[in-house]
Amino acid sequence: MKEQTDKLICIMCPLGCELTVKHIGGKVISVQGNGCPLGEKFAKEEFSNPKRVVITTVQVKNGKRRLVPVRSDKPVPKEKLFDVLKHLRKVQISAPVKFHQVIVENVLGTGANIIATDEVAEE
Ligand code: SF4
Repeated sequence: MKEQTDKLICIMCPLGCELTVKHIGGKVISVQGNGCPLGEKFAKEEFSNPKRVVITTVQVKNGKRRLVPVRSDKPVPKEKLFDVLKHLRKVQISAPVKFHQVIVENVLGTGANIIATDEVAEE
């Protein structure tokens, strides 16, 4: 197989280093442009098993607000992202909601929990 070069933006921190990734058949052989070792780890994962943290909102019943912001406590496989978001659109949680309360455990078998990133008091 032929060596290929691709550019990626590292999303592991706000610096957003531009990575130059050389790979053969999807196997990473070198990473340049990373400001720290996390960039190389990110590039290798992007080529083998890309993952993303889920960030969205969930409906709240009987709360002072109708929605609470949530996120996954670890990244989920990128190919499951759409299914997780679809699933979370149907979830309703009763107020009160506490900061970092687990809203959905092990969402769709990904091993990640969906947690609240804010509080919602009862109406
Ligand atoms: S390579 Fe390191 S410094 Fe650069 S964006 Fe990624 S985590 Fe941040």
